[in-house]
Amino acid sequence: MINSRIKKLKEEMNLLGKEPKTRRKINKKLKDFILKRDNYKCQAQRGSKCNKGKLEVHHIDYNPNNNKINNLITLCNFHNSSISNHKFSNKEWWIGYFKEKMENVIYVGGKKNESK
Ligand SMILES: [Zn+2]
Repeated sequence: MINSRIKKLKEEMNLLGKEPKTRRKINKKLKDFILKRDNYKCQAQRGSKCNKGKLEVHHIDYNPNNNKINNLITLCNFHNSSISNHKFSNKEWWIGYFKEKMENVIYVGGKKNESK
């Protein structure tokens, strides 16, 4: 009986523990902004072969709560799932690759990223 109470408590704690991990949703306005900035093209490749799938927004640092514009990049459905599942190369390589890209990004409105 005590065990079942402990079990119930543990379940409740688990649920509470999950709360902060919930993804902060990228709202439509932000998504549109990122897609537009990246010219509606997957940024994983220079070629355009992969641009047939649905476009998605990828978190460069793999932190789903970091929705800063320089942490978000447009990827096609294929590359987003592949990179997120670490099928391609390693995490650090992609982080470096996308961060370098972001340094060269010119934001909508003609403002260059000068945060560095
Ligand atoms: Zn792609």
